[in-house]
Amino acid sequence: MSRRKTRPRPPAPAPAVTADTPCPCGLDAAYGACCGRFHSGTAGTAPTAELLMRSRYSAFVVGDAPYLLRTWAPETRPGTLDLDPGMRWTGLEILDTTGGTAFHQTGTVTFRARYAHGGEAGALHERSRFARHDGAWVYVDGDFPDD
Ligand SMILES: [Zn+2]
Repeated sequence: MSRRKTRPRPPAPAPAVTADTPCPCGLDAAYGACCGRFHSGTAGTAPTAELLMRSRYSAFVVGDAPYLLRTWAPETRPGTLDLDPGMRWTGLEILDTTGGTAFHQTGTVTFRARYAHGGEAGALHERSRFARHDGAWVYVDGDFPDD
């Protein structure tokens, strides 16, 4: 029997995302068959604004800054993107969408993304705007509806 005192547990590391683990975006699919195929480019680009939104959320989870930059509208894209290593995204909920399908040139996706940062849980509630650039959906900007 160990009589060691219980030490405070270190923060749990983020679960590793692999091609076979559930996709971080919350759809009932493995990462490799869901957002991962857009990150790798093997399935081309996301066909709807919602799937692009989901794939960008997953890119934040797996730390794929190049994907975030290449799916950002040129007119609003930052020059560089430094992802905060202390930020851990813990869940995505799509609340509403407008447009954003094969029949549209623009669309919006309203979502809530949960995170933990420095031991504190929070949520980002955003309505993102998307548009087509050279045929592919890109993120334009977002605003923050009142909760
Ligand atoms: Zn996904």
